[in-house]
Amino acid sequence: MTPHHLQSAAPPRIISSMNCTKCKTKAVMKLPRHNAAFCKGCFNRFVQDQVLKAIRSQEMFTQQDRLLVAVSGGKDSLALWDLLLKLGYKADALYVNLGIGGYSESSQKKVVHFAETVAAAYGSVMHVHTVEREEGAGIRELAMMVHRPTCSTCGTIKRYRFNHAAIQHEYDVMATGHNLDDEAARLLGNVLHWQHEYLEKQGPSLPASLDGFAKKVKPLYRLTERELAAYCVLNRIEYVVEECPMAQGARTLLYKEVLNRLETESPGTKQMFYWGFLEKHRKAEAPMSMVDKDRSTLHPCSLCGQPTTADTCSYCKLMVRAKISTPH
Ligand code: SF4
Ligand SMILES: [Zn+2]
Ligand SMILES: [Zn+2]
Repeated sequence: MTPHHLQSAAPPRIISSMNCTKCKTKAVMKLPRHNAAFCKGCFNRFVQDQVLKAIRSQEMFTQQDRLLVAVSGGKDSLALWDLLLKLGYKADALYVNLGIGGYSESSQKKVVHFAETVAAAYGSVMHVHTVEREEGAGIRELAMMVHRPTCSTCGTIKRYRFNHAAIQHEYDVMATGHNLDDEAARLLGNVLHWQHEYLEKQGPSLPASLDGFAKKVKPLYRLTERELAAYCVLNRIEYVVEECPMAQGARTLLYKEVLNRLETESPGTKQMFYWGFLEKHRKAEAPMSMVDKDRSTLHPCSLCGQPTTADTCSYCKLMVRAKISTPH
């Protein structure tokens, strides 16, 4: 599985000698892809507008729905939790502690800090799942036991745990912090390898049961990494800046670099690439036909009961293999 929340190394320096395009006061942030510069207030409104546009145009959820946000301690997921609460949505969060030494410790601290200092005031709840305690070992040890790459083991466990929590606590929708850079990089990878099956499922709003999981949405797909880092800095949201150590050398980083070069040469390339894909995809296939296709092949896992296309789901397979290779 591709690592999905790679962070840019450092928060952006926010300086601009320009005036705000909207209100003409001093701007703090330049946005070349929109040919604009914004002051803090107008930038925050711009970010909120992009999120609202994403939610409404993709029919992600309504004010009545209960949302579960997947938080990692990074800028994207904490910005998402913050934005959803400020926009009046009912958003709780789930943090999965992967047991990756100092990285997991510092990311959990950031999430707890946000939960206590911001989210609690909205009556929002934070759930924590600790892999070492529940699955019996940290993610790197589990990956070694089952002889699989760490990121793919991590993906299987996180997908399963988020879905499990969503169903157990009766959330309507799961939201993740994937941004425009993540989605454009993933699209580039899928196009380069002509991964038709993945292309079909690359939308920012996947209905319930596709893959056998709760409805999944990506409300930040209209915002870039740089914009989200700026949102956190301007709004004093403390996030973990270091990357997960397992992300080193991942393909996604290379695709992001390539896209950033193109973006510097011609601002707006990333959004043209990804939004253009979404527009063509929307015209090409009605989402319901995809859902029906998946639903017809799903049945309960023989061990845990969660929907799967095989006899046993990939999480249970992984846990069975991990137990077999544990010394007695
Ligand atoms: S191990 Fe780290 S980089 Fe890999 S998928 Fe998990 S969190 Fe992402
Ligand atoms: Zn302004
Ligand atoms: Zn199972």
